[in-house]
Amino acid sequence: MEPVVALERAIYLLDRELAPSNKVRAFKNAIEIVESLDGDEIERRAHAGTLTELVGVGKSTGTVIREAVLGIDDGYLAALDERSQIPLGAGAELRAAIKGDCHMHSTWSDGGASLSTMAAAARSIGHDYVVATDHSARLTIAHGLSEERLVEQLEELEQLNAEFAPFRILSGMEVDIFEDGSLDLADHMLEQLDVVVASVHSKLSMPAADMTRRMVTAIANPHVDILGHMTNRKVSGTGRAPSEFDAEVVFAACAQFDTAVEINCRPERQDPPEELLELAVEWDCLIAIDTDAHAPGQIEWQAYGCDKAVQCGVNPDNIINTWDAEELIEWASAKTS
Ligand SMILES: [Zn+2]
Ligand SMILES: [Zn+2]
Repeated sequence: MEPVVALERAIYLLDRELAPSNKVRAFKNAIEIVESLDGDEIERRAHAGTLTELVGVGKSTGTVIREAVLGIDDGYLAALDERSQIPLGAGAELRAAIKGDCHMHSTWSDGGASLSTMAAAARSIGHDYVVATDHSARLTIAHGLSEERLVEQLEELEQLNAEFAPFRILSGMEVDIFEDGSLDLADHMLEQLDVVVASVHSKLSMPAADMTRRMVTAIANPHVDILGHMTNRKVSGTGRAPSEFDAEVVFAACAQFDTAVEINCRPERQDPPEELLELAVEWDCLIAIDTDAHAPGQIEWQAYGCDKAVQCGVNPDNIINTWDAEELIEWASAKTS
């Protein structure tokens, strides 16, 4: 294996196991170093065991490069692959029925890889489509897309779709929900998008009555197709308490306005919690199982959401990712009209 290919594979697997970003960055730096040197030097150093003398090549990255050069296939990468496997549990059958992912980010906002790389990752795990849902403008910390940049992204999408067909990259956005429930994108742009995810990212601890009104206003907006990570809780690290709102009212609105509730598969979010998902099932809400991937390896996280959906009794017919792209687009546009 070429050292760069081995390092890229390592990054994919590290992202899959949600490794700390400094670790991933070390591997990205190592790629730059390998690319800046000639192959002979890499080979010589691999044999002599002197790769780590290079500035920016550490123990792990040096091991991956060395094993790639020497053709060792049961070392670091193999162990990392094994360790980062996403186990398929109760949701295995459902996972096999999933046709795409409706929430992921690219370098257009705060993702770590290009749209093309993200699409290739989705295709490689058997998806038929992925929706490009980068952040909207107000999320400046995530380099959210202005209207102008969204138009540029739509142009890139067209080119990529020509390249990737029959695999499809649908247009979309993760649009920020303002405090009054209005959206961070003009109607004439929302109209152009295939699938719109709307999420709360600010003032997470506002009073429950205000949060309920805010969410319901967004859910009722005919442009909104999916309600993203509804509670905004974080279950790892220092954690974050879920936002408070009247869940019965929120799910009633989702059912009424045909807006899908997202199962956000990110391991640190796992949103919504089981008891809320069970309530969504009682309301017979549509469900989207989305990874919210910010890197190619994270596209595999859908398996987590599939397990959860099955455990909470979600009807597979209500899961919009089991529909094909055409059906999905039709549903989303019927909502708008
Ligand atoms: Zn979000
Ligand atoms: Zn997101």
